[in-house]
Amino acid sequence: MSKVFKFGGASIKDVESIKNVSEILFSHKNDDLFIIFSAMGKVTNMLEDVLDKYVNHSSETSYLLQKVKDFHYSILDNLFEKEEQIYNDVNNLFVEIEWVLEDDPNENYDYDYDQIVSIGELISTKIMSSYLNKIGFKNIWIDARDIIKTDNTHRFAKVNWSITEKSILSVKSEFPKITQGFIGCTSENFTTTLGREGSDFSAAIIGYCINATEVVIWKDVDGLLNSDPRYFENSELLEEIPFTEAVELAYFGAKVIHPKTIYPLKRKSIPLFVKSFISPNNKGTIIKNDVEITPLIPSYIVKENQILISISDINLSFIVENHLSEIFNVLSELNISVNLMQNSAASFSICIDNNKKRVSKLIKILNESFNVYFNDDLTLFTIRHYDEQAVDLVLKGKKLILEQKSRNTIQIVVKQ
Ligand code: ADP
Ligand code: ASP
Ligand code: MG
Repeated sequence: MSKVFKFGGASIKDVESIKNVSEILFSHKNDDLFIIFSAMGKVTNMLEDVLDKYVNHSSETSYLLQKVKDFHYSILDNLFEKEEQIYNDVNNLFVEIEWVLEDDPNENYDYDYDQIVSIGELISTKIMSSYLNKIGFKNIWIDARDIIKTDNTHRFAKVNWSITEKSILSVKSEFPKITQGFIGCTSENFTTTLGREGSDFSAAIIGYCINATEVVIWKDVDGLLNSDPRYFENSELLEEIPFTEAVELAYFGAKVIHPKTIYPLKRKSIPLFVKSFISPNNKGTIIKNDVEITPLIPSYIVKENQILISISDINLSFIVENHLSEIFNVLSELNISVNLMQNSAASFSICIDNNKKRVSKLIKILNESFNVYFNDDLTLFTIRHYDEQAVDLVLKGKKLILEQKSRNTIQIVVKQ
């Protein structure tokens, strides 16, 4: 009965929540556990800020790093005595960041990103492992860089499944294992990361490789809901859903599960539970093969800060295949994913995230060959299993800009 548990930043954001997670773990002390932690609280964002200041040679760099240190040391001071080894361990990890900061930024921003931002997970797992050992939950700390092997696409590293599987299977311990989400390592021993929110995916990788009987991701919500409670009142729990449906929700942007998490588990039929670390005794959501969505109700996904770009031929003729391939080449070069697209006689429209830097590059390039118009400050709603009432709810008080329907999904672009 091997289980993989993954705890995100919100579950270990302060002393009280760390104690709560420890209680959850104690209640599973007879299980064969592989435990994955993200960085604590908002530490990944804080480290991204440190990196941005550093690459811009800003004098605020060390001030921002100090904030990350203060955050962790205040947690340490509440959980440990000053002479305990963990202070040295955490110190040494901060020294690794300081070494990077002493040199000039690398030409490859993504490389520096991985060296600095990965430290958040290394620190959180060191703290959790030490604290749990101290209070009697014996465990071993594992460096994810020894087991998750990737290529050298820094910041978006691709997993080398065969070496990873071998490495994970070589870990032997009678105690629960604690390791980092989000990070991996190249064959040349350089640290990589798997993309923001990648710890869910790490849990799936490990679950897949050890043939876990289940993977549980512990969240600050009751499970997978039919909408993001930050945007919708009355979000309802989806008790059971098939992997195929979870993939759709994650693909359209439901922010609760990293989209890559699903496939490895689906392939080996390993059930994925989404459970609340606030109410750990509640059932949560189970995602697995061969179940019906229960209850079958509309699910809502919101993407804010969208821009709709309409592209037409300079000679006012149709947008034809070779135009489309030119447009898609530009999109792929700029790493832009399309959230929705629509073609008409006169123009081809795409709705994308309005990432200012990339979008202005895109518009500049497209302007060389096409007429380009855009409409920004938009929101894209996707509703799975929609009905009239669900659509009315989303449209209330907003201006409809574009709508696209299939049997199970409707996508609606609106201006607030
Ligand atoms: P983690 O701590 O694991 O990183 P996240 O913050 O990434 O957790 O994910 C949990 C958050 O996802 C919730 O607080 C909730 O606001 C948001 N969320 C978005 N869509 C959904 C959904 N369909 N069901 C549940 N939570 C959702
Ligand atoms: N700490 C990383 C992030 O915030 C990975 C994760 O939490 O999943 O993106
Ligand atoms: Mg997250």
